[in-house]
Amino acid sequence: MFNLKNILRPNIASLTPYSSAREDFKGEAEIYLDANENSIGSAINTHILNRYPDPLQLKVKKKLGKIKEVASENIFLGNGSDEAIDILIRAFCNPGKDNVVILPPTYGMYEVAAKINDVKVKSVNLNTDLQLDLPALTRAIDSNTKIIFVCSPNNPTGSIINKPYIEKLLNTFNGVVVVDEAYIDFADSQSMLQDISKYPNLVIMQTFSKAWGLAGLRVGMAFASAEIISIMNKIKAPYNVGELAQKLILEALDNKDAVDKMISTLKKERVILIDKLQGFSFVKGVLPSQSNFLLVKTNEPNKLYDFLIANNVVVRNRSTLPLCEGSLRMTIGTPDENKKLLSLLSTFEKTYSK
Ligand SMILES: *Cc1c(COP(=O)(O)O)cnc(C)c1O
Repeated sequence: MFNLKNILRPNIASLTPYSSAREDFKGEAEIYLDANENSIGSAINTHILNRYPDPLQLKVKKKLGKIKEVASENIFLGNGSDEAIDILIRAFCNPGKDNVVILPPTYGMYEVAAKINDVKVKSVNLNTDLQLDLPALTRAIDSNTKIIFVCSPNNPTGSIINKPYIEKLLNTFNGVVVVDEAYIDFADSQSMLQDISKYPNLVIMQTFSKAWGLAGLRVGMAFASAEIISIMNKIKAPYNVGELAQKLILEALDNKDAVDKMISTLKKERVILIDKLQGFSFVKGVLPSQSNFLLVKTNEPNKLYDFLIANNVVVRNRSTLPLCEGSLRMTIGTPDENKKLLSLLSTFEKTYSK
């Protein structure tokens, strides 16, 4: 049985979190002399930023919660979802003792964040269907395994991990299952967000960096039980999301229609690109994608990568990752950028292909 108390690090369980001025006094006052801010003003006068932001981002959570249909107490906001990854590892994994499981080929930050925290990483490759290898996972998990990171849609394959497999993990694993849904807005399948009420060991991560087009703002989301979220809040830096970021996210949340339009454009481009890419002789295959990128398998990944760079187009060479032999990851661009990419690939085909 999953029991949060059993997996929480003792130092975190007993931690009295830093209490910021804005948390100590939550009311409204006329004069604020409690936080050593500059009472006179800011170095720039285009924005009023001399006051610390809301440490718990409650306005943002209220609005976001309405859209996502979850309560504010089930939402964590951070400096990108990368902050949520780091905090989850620090909450549950004792350095030098515990481990996390990752499912290559996958997003690189899980491993890096674990290693920074001196937490061991066990890799269980996805199977050739790009699904969870449940028998191998069962063998890998031990009593010190605290977190399994599942990325769905997965980066860099663009594939979905089937929900019944994730549910099997949630039901049998006594640690936390993180489902990273950074690309869920581009997928045909449903988010597992509503399942947080069903599974006390489920954490869903999403981000404003991809579909919402706000990578520069650095705001990520985690959704989980109120207990897990309160632990994350205890660990995070007191003012981890800046005032401007909070203001702009509130604005962004009013523009869901514009976001949906961009998503639909990118999905249309995805269909076109897959079709055209498959026509090139040097392309061995393009994986079906539920995300805003394509994993393209070629005979000549390094040659093609260098050719694109020489022509001012940069893609990601993923050819050294397991199950990604020969593969480049290409983000879906604007319709114009995609045309340029395809025309460059025609040139490559004529010049270089055998
Ligand atoms: C891009 C990406 C993220 C987003 O990270 P942020 O820190 O929110 O920008 C998270 N997970 C995966 C798998 C990604 O590809």
